Amino acid sequence: MRNRNGTEKNAVTTIFGRIIRREIPADIVYEDDSCLAFRDINPQAPIHVLLIPKKEIARLADAQPEDQALLGHLLLAANKVARQLGVQDAYRVVVNNGAGAGQSVLHLHLHILAGRPMRWPPG
Ligand code: AMP
Repeated sequence: MRNRNGTEKNAVTTIFGRIIRREIPADIVYEDDSCLAFRDINPQAPIHVLLIPKKEIARLADAQPEDQALLGHLLLAANKVARQLGVQDAYRVVVNNGAGAGQSVLHLHLHILAGRPMRWPPG
């Protein structure tokens, strides 16, 4: 759902928006017109990269039909990032949606984790 000013409902600028605008530093590993990937500041694996759309969508649950191409683009970009980091054969992509699922930053992001054995189910 969109607000009258055309922004996504619930979309607020977060620390990730500030990283996109280069207002705060980040260890950026990939960027294209619609997304940005940077290393997580508190890594949970030897490789832990966050991949975010430049569009400020708060949660996956807030994505709209018009975001279909962007969401597909993010998965293909995750694959590119994994290839770039040499972990294309063993990586995990995680999206936490909502505080109850562990989401702490309200800007949609894909966690790309690799470099250690991954257990299942995740905690
Ligand atoms: P989530 O808990 O799914 O919302 O994930 C948010 C992630 O953002 C956590 O893994 C944090 O460690 C990470 N994070 C928070 N602030 C920064 C930052 N300034 N630079 C890089 N990663 C960050």
